[in-house]
Amino acid sequence: MKKVTIYLADLCHNQFGLARSSISLGIGTIGAYQIKKFAEKVKVRLFTTYDDLLDGFKEKEPDIVGLANFGWNENLNVKMMSVIARDFPNVLIVTGGANISPYGATDFSGRRKPMSLTEAFSKQQDAQILAKMPHINYFVHGDGELPMHHIVNEYIKHDCSKERMINEKVAAPGTSLVYQNQLIFAGPLQRLKGLDEFDSPYALGLYDEILDKYDLVPQTETDRGCPFECGFCTIGGWTNAVIKHSVEWIKKEILYLKERSKIKILRIANSNFGLLKHDIEIAKYIKNLRDKTGYPNGIRVHTAARGAKERVKNLMQQLGDMLPLNLSTQTFSGEVLANVTRANQSEDVIKEMSLFASKNKLMLSTEIIIGLPGETYESFVNTFNQLFKYGFQSIVYGPLILIRGSDLYSDEARKKYKFKTKCVLIEKSVSVIEDELFFEYDQCPTESSSYTESQYWDMHRVCTFAHMTSRGGYYKELYSHALNSDITFKDIFLEIKNNPSNYPLFSKSLDNCINAMQKHYFSNKNALKNKLAQEIKLNGTVDSVDICCDYQEATAKLLSYEYRKKYIDEFSKAIISLYASKIGTVDDEYCNIIENLKIYTELSIISPQELPEERLEHTSNYDLEEWLNNQCSLSLSTYKLKSAKKFILKVRNYSEHKMLNEVTKDWTSRDRDLFYFRQVVSSNHRRFV
Ligand code: SF4
Repeated sequence: MKKVTIYLADLCHNQFGLARSSISLGIGTIGAYQIKKFAEKVKVRLFTTYDDLLDGFKEKEPDIVGLANFGWNENLNVKMMSVIARDFPNVLIVTGGANISPYGATDFSGRRKPMSLTEAFSKQQDAQILAKMPHINYFVHGDGELPMHHIVNEYIKHDCSKERMINEKVAAPGTSLVYQNQLIFAGPLQRLKGLDEFDSPYALGLYDEILDKYDLVPQTETDRGCPFECGFCTIGGWTNAVIKHSVEWIKKEILYLKERSKIKILRIANSNFGLLKHDIEIAKYIKNLRDKTGYPNGIRVHTAARGAKERVKNLMQQLGDMLPLNLSTQTFSGEVLANVTRANQSEDVIKEMSLFASKNKLMLSTEIIIGLPGETYESFVNTFNQLFKYGFQSIVYGPLILIRGSDLYSDEARKKYKFKTKCVLIEKSVSVIEDELFFEYDQCPTESSSYTESQYWDMHRVCTFAHMTSRGGYYKELYSHALNSDITFKDIFLEIKNNPSNYPLFSKSLDNCINAMQKHYFSNKNALKNKLAQEIKLNGTVDSVDICCDYQEATAKLLSYEYRKKYIDEFSKAIISLYASKIGTVDDEYCNIIENLKIYTELSIISPQELPEERLEHTSNYDLEEWLNNQCSLSLSTYKLKSAKKFILKVRNYSEHKMLNEVTKDWTSRDRDLFYFRQVVSSNHRRFV
């Protein structure tokens, strides 16, 4: 019997640098499930770039190709599909992913619960993709393993003939067939009951070619799904039931990756690690493995945003040297949270977690989104004020993106919130194929019913300032000292913003960043396209259109040996000036503390440009350690010592720095900086006492 060859690809652009840092897990689990079900009847290969997939086609034409369909490869898929349809017309083209509605044409009319915006928009969402990609034969709705199994099964039953599949209008549950440019939905499908129903795609060797060729961080998932329903996200809502792997399954996969992967960082792809009880057992296993063998030397994971606080604490006790304690917030505005159907942890829980972080010397981190519906400049700045008051040290931010498949992407949401969007290139996602330019971009609202475009850029300025001073908790102690005298983040930000001549370094950096970023927002797709074409023609790169570069380069400058002290001086000057105008005078002790914290801050920061010393010594007349353990809630003067004391400042995860230093040793300083911000977790950007 003929063996069915299946190629699965989650493509990313690669002509100007690989626009991806992690292995794409979904294609692997879909492939592993087909192997489990069909064994020798199928041959599965995985791909990550356009050229590799095309080479694969030339080596051996597959029977079925499955293309993951996301914002980062939408237009690359358009080209890939048209080439397959033109040059390999017998290959059945299947697609799934966040760009495809998980609901298809499900009939919700009999249901009591009102339809969500995404549910109401689902048919339109799929129609939009079909209009862009008319060569698709089957749309897969939701998780891909089972629907793909039905497609392959039917394919085998129909003599491995694409023609028969289409002409006979073969239905496969969980999919829609494209017939005469119309979608025929075959009905919804239950999700898998558990994830152990397939073997590890790594252990099956499915990722071997990719692992050998690219320096990508491997991903594993201990569970899948999210019980929450944030309106800007495509994960929650339809995946309310969380399905999982057994602990034994995960252990085996991790052990396999320990031996197989060049990159010794491990990414856990769960949306909410710590949500399930067995996550603790997995965390303990990882900690023991690391203690014994050094693997993994870094972990990337999103810990549970809500509930599960005791479990998250327990996880952090295991993995705290590799991770910050992250509590996602996105905003503290109640109105905004309601608009995106999200609830944050209660104030009591945040305070409890902050105390836990201090007592356990963990970095407390969070993420913020600029431009959510209902956000105003005032509410946005207040969120930052709150974050610093709660003791958050690291704040990462990103602009709101209208992601296809999320509530906010729908026409209704756009109308309701009066979003006016601009186009922003997704990293280096640009390719020139057959003399035509293909690129991916995000749609970011720069104006809405609650903020003007000018206020949008003011919010960016706030975030850039926070990134520069707090991405890795750089100025934590200076911020805390200021707060002890009621000088807030907002006070410091406005002092610097309103008096640019007194703070030339910060003012210039912020002006440069905002000016540069504004140039990365294009009024429409064609304007972005023209700019990309021009850049490629003139410079042969698209580096100058990559939005992340500007604020990351500005932060790298602040961390550098050359400028670090100068920035700290300016920041401290702002605190002293605010203190003086508040109290009328500045006493010696206040200045002494500032001087000591300036030296401390300079020592604690790590530059992306060189391998740091693991430990440094700092002498102080104040018990800094006790002050920090007690959340800096009282003035540092309360902790004055009878005689000066030495404190050891230590890097949390030194092995990660050693590895990154090795990987980037021959790189340009710019590339090294950008890689650092992409790969090093915030809690490892500085030393701690
Ligand atoms: S943002 Fe996080 S918590 Fe909210 S729906 Fe998405 S995965 Fe779930």
